[in-house]
Amino acid sequence: MSPSIELINTGSELLLGRVLNTHQQWICRQLADRGYEVTRQICVADDGPSIQAAARESLGRADLVLTTGGLGPTSDDITRDLIAQLLGRPLALDAAVLANIKERFAKIKRPMPRSTEVQAMVPAGARVLANLNGTAPGLAVEINPNPFRENKRGSWLILLPGPPRELRPMFSESVLPLVLEEFPPAQAFVCRTLHTTGMGESAVEEKIAGSLQPLVASGLELGYCARIGEVDVRLIARDEKAAATVSQAEAIIRQLLGVLVFSDGDDTLESTVVQLLTARKKTVALAESCTGGLIAHRITNVPGASAVLVCGLVTYSNDAKKNLLGVRGETLAGHGAVSAAVARQMAEGARERHATDFGLAVTGIAGPSGGSAQKPVGTVFIALADGRETTVEERFNPFDRETFKFVTSQQALDLMRRALAWEDK
Ligand code: ATP
Ligand code: MG
Repeated sequence: MSPSIELINTGSELLLGRVLNTHQQWICRQLADRGYEVTRQICVADDGPSIQAAARESLGRADLVLTTGGLGPTSDDITRDLIAQLLGRPLALDAAVLANIKERFAKIKRPMPRSTEVQAMVPAGARVLANLNGTAPGLAVEINPNPFRENKRGSWLILLPGPPRELRPMFSESVLPLVLEEFPPAQAFVCRTLHTTGMGESAVEEKIAGSLQPLVASGLELGYCARIGEVDVRLIARDEKAAATVSQAEAIIRQLLGVLVFSDGDDTLESTVVQLLTARKKTVALAESCTGGLIAHRITNVPGASAVLVCGLVTYSNDAKKNLLGVRGETLAGHGAVSAAVARQMAEGARERHATDFGLAVTGIAGPSGGSAQKPVGTVFIALADGRETTVEERFNPFDRETFKFVTSQQALDLMRRALAWEDK
């Protein structure tokens, strides 16, 4: 039987809406991708009674309880103390952890505040989980027998730090191996997510559901997740034929959706584009108007982007389009800044002026004002120049400004991706 798992996120900032509880999504996803399901999740304030009550209740039900946050050195970081108190396990200074913390401070050439020493306090019998990006280690405690459960069956309690850049590597390096060892999966489990763009959720379902029906009838779990500008198709199988079932389903989907599928793992659209450009040794110059640099931002989030991105120009005004890209005054006057003709000249100008293989340009009306009957708010032109020809696509994205910018950047990146993917054909 799969273990019951409960997640307790601590932090008043989460309840005040100051910080989005991304741990909830990230941890649940990590576990779900390996066949474990979080049975309950709760978010509590950083105060003694709330944290202890939540831990007591969860330990009364679950085989595995995870907490996040409150392992830092400040006065509001009280999870470690409260849990030690709840479990009746004294805290003792762990010399190895302390040495580790001192070493980290020495490395960054800063004096170690005394308050940091508290992070080297470890409850009796707890396992220390290394923190590769910070000073507070995680803690894993096996509670067996578990006095909070009626049948006294043992549970694990794992305490994780709050900062995502500390929690995530710790979870992957230490928590997942522990979970797999202590709660070995009872059956095979294969999960694959295909990322698609360029088609809405219901259209994707309509296209593939029928052909996948026989596999679904024999145990394939099929799920859809619509995000902005993207639809994920999730394939899960849980028996001895799991790997074959998921591969068969993937082949059917790829055949039906073709180039709409851009990744089958953790690759984003931008990382896919960077990989394709890198593999083909091609470069790109961007000319962005309505996306305000978002395409450049997304591309530069990908490690290795410098090999393919030569420059990103945010040419918001007509003058900038003329001076920085060579868009002609007559074209702007005759067609307007948001037009196929201007998008074309922006892409060609960016490419020529920066001697790149590709020029990618966007111009559009984000709104809420600035629309007209012929060009309503949401109108966008996206152009890709490759030296031989220039493709211009008109799109309509009538959304709030931020969504508009994201969807437009998605369409531009996808135009680039499809051009590169076709080169294989
Ligand atoms: P620190 O040493 O930084 O104090 P900590 O282990 O005590 O770490 P918290 O103080 O609870 O953790 O949180 C530190 C920061 O981590 C928060 O300000 C917040 O930005 C981020 N954080 C905490 N919990 C979450 C969460 N559930 N989702 C996303 N971010 C979070
Ligand atoms: Mg803290």
